[in-house]
Parts: sequence; structure tokens; C-alpha cells
Amino acid sequence: MSNESIKAVASASDRAFALSKALQEQALIPEGYVEKFTEIMENDFDPANGARVVARAWVDPAYRELLLRDGTAACDQFGYTGAQGEYIVALQNTPTLQNVIVCTLCSCTAWPVLGLPPDWYKSFEYRSRVVRESRTVLREMGLDLPNEVEIRVWDTSAETRYMVLPLRPSGTEGWTEAQLASIVTKDVLIGIARPEVPTTGTPPQ
Ligand code: FE
Repeated sequence: MSNESIKAVASASDRAFALSKALQEQALIPEGYVEKFTEIMENDFDPANGARVVARAWVDPAYRELLLRDGTAACDQFGYTGAQGEYIVALQNTPTLQNVIVCTLCSCTAWPVLGLPPDWYKSFEYRSRVVRESRTVLREMGLDLPNEVEIRVWDTSAETRYMVLPLRPSGTEGWTEAQLASIVTKDVLIGIARPEVPTTGTPPQ
């Protein structure tokens, strides 16, 4: 296929519309299926879910042990299950280890706890470079790690979906789970950032 013919392909929205029309004409989309799926995507699959899991693991050693042993079961305790979350593995950061997630093939994330992947996560540049030069990529994304911190990159597969369990930052002693969860972002759950305590030192409301 030449570059000329690649450029001639219809836009993503045009292709999606054509596919939807063809499926509807053949009655292959059950009534309300697309609406229901859209609702789940917009409302249920949210990185705030993963943040609650992390916060619980920070305050409850038994839950933390379960999360590291059987991530799927730990997430299920909150009801965070469903498509692309059938086998969740939590990756524990340590003072000398930073875990980072990628899907070199496409864009897979653990939807029920991370939500849909950010655009940069799907980019060819991130997918290729984070494997080859992870330290440089993390620095470019704002996470400048000292050399003594090992960076371990985990390639998502069709079955296994990862979430990073970050270190609980100092200065968060006495915070509630909700306050702890508020500093755990999608980037933190992917591993390209670390939780940050507000410079005021006071917990978020
Ligand atoms: Fe993928």
C-alpha cells in the first residue's frame, strides 16, 4: 500500500459512522447497547476508582496484601470489575523501583480502575520510546528520577491489565482515604508521575 492510498482513507468518524450503519442495517447491535456502553465509559470507568484502591492499600495492610496477591479480587471489593478488568495486576513501587505501564501493541489499560487511556499513551512515540529510553521519556513527562531508582516497564497484554501502586508520600500522615485518593491521578496509576502533596502541606478537601 502506498502512502497515497493511506492518505485517502476516510476519517475515523466517517469510518465509525459507516461501520455503525452497516451493523444497524444487519441488526447486529442490540437495542440500547451503544448507549449503555457509552454510559459505562463516561461514568463508571474512572481513574478515581484506582485512586480509591490505592488509598485503601495505603491504610489497610490486609487489603494491600490482597491487592498485590490478587488485584482482580481487591478491585472487585469496590465493584470495579468489567471489560478489560478481568485480570488486574498491581505493581508495587518502592523507594528504589518505579513501575511504568505501556501497551506496545495498541492502547490497553485496566478500564475499570484507570479509565480509558490518554491520547499520549496511545501514541507510537510513547509506546516505542518508553521501552527503549524510559528514563528520558519519564523526564520529558515531568518525572525526573535519580539514577538509583530502577524503572521497570510492563507491557500490557490482551489478558493482563496493570495498575501501579505508588509509594505513599510523606506528609500525608493522618489523611482520610478520600484525601489520599485525591492525589492519585491517572498518570500516577500508569506510573509516569508520583503522587504530590500540596505545597501548603494541608490535605485536599
Ligand atoms: Fe493495547
